[in-house]
Amino acid sequence: MRFDADYSMTIDGRAVDTAARLKVIDPATERSITSVPDAGAAELDAAVAAARAAFPGWRGLALDERRALLRAIAGAISDNIESLAKLLTAEQGKPLAEARGELEGASYWCESIASFDLPTIVSEDSDERQRVTYRVPIGVVAGIVPWNYPMLLGVWKIAPALLAGNTVVVKPSPFTPLTMLKLGELLRDILPPGVLNVVTGGDQLGPLITAHPGIDKVSFTGSTATGKRVMASCAANLKRVTLELGGNDPAIVMPDVDVEAVAEQLFWAAFSNSGQICIATKRLYIHEAIYDRLKAAIVAVAERVRVGNGTDADVRLGPVQNRQQYERVRALIADSHANGHDFLIGGDISDGPGFFIPVTIVDNPPENSRVVQEEAFGPVLPLLKFAHVDEAIARANDTIFGLAASVWSADVEQATAIASQLEAGTVWVNEVQNLSPFAVFGGHKQSGLGAENGLEGVLEYTNPQTISIHKAGRQVTPSDGAVPA
Ligand code: NAD
Repeated sequence: MRFDADYSMTIDGRAVDTAARLKVIDPATERSITSVPDAGAAELDAAVAAARAAFPGWRGLALDERRALLRAIAGAISDNIESLAKLLTAEQGKPLAEARGELEGASYWCESIASFDLPTIVSEDSDERQRVTYRVPIGVVAGIVPWNYPMLLGVWKIAPALLAGNTVVVKPSPFTPLTMLKLGELLRDILPPGVLNVVTGGDQLGPLITAHPGIDKVSFTGSTATGKRVMASCAANLKRVTLELGGNDPAIVMPDVDVEAVAEQLFWAAFSNSGQICIATKRLYIHEAIYDRLKAAIVAVAERVRVGNGTDADVRLGPVQNRQQYERVRALIADSHANGHDFLIGGDISDGPGFFIPVTIVDNPPENSRVVQEEAFGPVLPLLKFAHVDEAIARANDTIFGLAASVWSADVEQATAIASQLEAGTVWVNEVQNLSPFAVFGGHKQSGLGAENGLEGVLEYTNPQTISIHKAGRQVTPSDGAVPA
């Protein structure tokens, strides 16, 4: 399928194109489906200038007015779900049902984030003084988005940034620019010009954003390696940063689970979106007493799942999103072959067309193998056997990552005690990947800095500002006991 519409950037509420274009590849066919603008410094300058010019007006709106416009964004997404979902499947590869789910999530997130209040804290209200801390917007916020959930993860940045009174420049991944460009277009008549600018470009554009002196904050979602470069570059003008980075999430499965019931959940925990989820289960620690039964049950689920083009109705798992990622996952699988690991299913990859990798499950490889230690971000999962829970906890924590984890047990008290010992920003008990706009989400260790979602996530788009008012009639000096500023 080709998508020949004109995909233009949105800058200052208008369509902006570039002479240079970037091809967009359908990962299921490896064919080019369309092209998008390839912005450089000049277009980025224009987007930042538009966002800067729009900032006073936008922050000057009453919170309720900004809430109403966020709800209008939610409406624009849900009114266009079918066309956006087709676009998302074509550029990202995920099955249509999953694409619809992502867009429903994006709309729900906008609607939900719109309901937050920005707290004010009165720390003193005495005869002498009133001291109040407000939350004020930071200025121009840049959102840098990866290719696995191009719309949902973009909205996670856009919605709280706008609610708090910032203006935004958002950059989708060059691999998946179409849905975000389309959203920019849909919002041209809804938001004041310059409030939300959408720019697309190749590898040059991200570093231009993080180095841009007119940008006050960068909210980045992507790999840990890139996150470190983002933070280093943002240091130049002390941009605020939020980093949502990689993960190597463990799941610990205790011997008292209902094996048949959890097998399906654990399968999808690892393989949804073809494993390309930051919070996918990437290491599955199973107690030795149920290892063989659970392994057989998971493989039975895997055998029923069809991998293919996301436009086919019975396909549950699409291709890996791009060649680079495809080669990375292939290399991990090749390493397991080279080291003689046992494959329970998958492991043989045909040569396209399309970046298809079959569901691949590796049977109890050594803990120090690449397939265990590295974030696969693809449809490959090691099953790992443990004898004692303390050992499982130690192995689960023995990683630079700390994004999320899960614990599975019929004994919720025991599972919660295990959860509290895991070094991760989110730990689920007897479920996984259930996120909420109302609950803070962020990585420990090298999985991130700062957080998204929940009140803390919203406050990441604000600076605290304390206004201290000396009440009339009396001059306060430090010798009066006042604390000098
Ligand atoms: P990536 O780091 O390659 O790219 C992410 C974004 O950064 C893209 O828009 C890219 O164009 C841009 N970029 C690349 N180099 C840049 C630079 N030097 N400066 C500024 N921007 C730059 O990541 P990806 O391959 O798109 O996504 C996969 C990774 O993202 C995985 O590691 C995954 O775990 C992680 N991820 C994390 C979360 C989370 O919430 N923690 C969510 C989704 C994905």
